[in-house]
Amino acid sequence: MRVPLLDLHGQMAPLRDEILAAVTEVIDSTQYILGPKVERFEKNIAAYCGSGHGIGVASGTDALLAALMALEIGPGDAVLTTPYSFFATMGCILRLGAKPVFADIDPVTYNIDPACMAEVLADDARSGKRIKAIIPVHLYGQCADMGRILALAQEYNLPIVEDAAQAIGALYPMQTGGQTVWQRAGSMGKAGCFSFFPSKNLGGIGDGGLITCNDSELAERLRIIRVHGGAPKYHHGVVGGNFRIDPIQTVVLEVKLARLPEWHKARRRNAANYRRLFAQTDLLKTGEVSLPKAVYEVEGMMVGEGCDYHIYNQFVIRVRDRDGLLRHLINHEIGAEIYYPIPLHRQECLAGFGYDKVLFPEAERAALETLALPIFPELTEAMQCFVVEQISEFYT
Ligand SMILES: *Cc1c(COP(=O)(O)O)cnc(C)c1O
Repeated sequence: MRVPLLDLHGQMAPLRDEILAAVTEVIDSTQYILGPKVERFEKNIAAYCGSGHGIGVASGTDALLAALMALEIGPGDAVLTTPYSFFATMGCILRLGAKPVFADIDPVTYNIDPACMAEVLADDARSGKRIKAIIPVHLYGQCADMGRILALAQEYNLPIVEDAAQAIGALYPMQTGGQTVWQRAGSMGKAGCFSFFPSKNLGGIGDGGLITCNDSELAERLRIIRVHGGAPKYHHGVVGGNFRIDPIQTVVLEVKLARLPEWHKARRRNAANYRRLFAQTDLLKTGEVSLPKAVYEVEGMMVGEGCDYHIYNQFVIRVRDRDGLLRHLINHEIGAEIYYPIPLHRQECLAGFGYDKVLFPEAERAALETLALPIFPELTEAMQCFVVEQISEFYT
């Protein structure tokens, strides 16, 4: 049996006609840049995410870059982020001439650890206050610990740019005045950045991204930065870029947005299936495999709608002899990937930043021990059985 890490055929087939009709409408309209279809999509996504404004951009990478540009991050500044993420999280900082500063991750969620952040921020406050913003990443589809991160941001008066590229719709239980308010990824910081790369839970037929925010002045600035900083056109008070999303992507995404809650639910069901299947083996007891933990899950919330405490963009396990297991799975036609094999502080482009000596042990350990298994919504139970069987076989 072949089990790909991701197969989009099953998602596209039932939507094909609807998507073709929507795309045809764009083609016939000749409105190929921005316009009412993009605006409608921005409103719908912002509403879904519980944010006041949505600004569509060309990619998740551009969302991060434009957000930092709007916050006027530049040379001499530092930005605090996680050492364990996709490169774009750090790339946007470096592209603006600023310096990434890292705080290690929590070994359970793989998200930035607020306790480590507190140490880094205290150090920075003592040594010149260069940190000007914080980028937490909601890795694999589960929010970073935003309550504690917001408290730190408040204490040090720093804006938060949430990298929510893997977490559209993911809920975080914010404690306010003795009450729990579930808030969606991207709605808690100063700005939230989303990606519609085809492998994300909401993926286009190419690149796309979006920034959410609640501050209308910031939203206006982002809209201007998106079109080269021209406001009005040909008058450039600031330098922006061409960061626009195409209407051809937004109409496709709009068709898919209507299905997003059921896809989240299917991914959560698949995660529950893995938990059941792994529990029937010895792998968890022997410690050969540990499963991801949905830390915000509440009893009784398992499969219902609107319970997106984890949207499982990836189902990442921690294993013994990871590289051996990966080879075994690939040999048996099972798709698996390492997200990510090299922590950000170890990237060659940071040579000279002095990070070769600084250690982020949990990020380093995650890079050596973790592996993502297939979790896409259309994955069948038979495929999941085969995956778990093959993992069992490898360890026996
Ligand atoms: C996908 C991703 C991005 C970048 O998004 P693109 O649309 O591919 O540019 C940024 N950060 C994280 C965590 C991602 O997973």
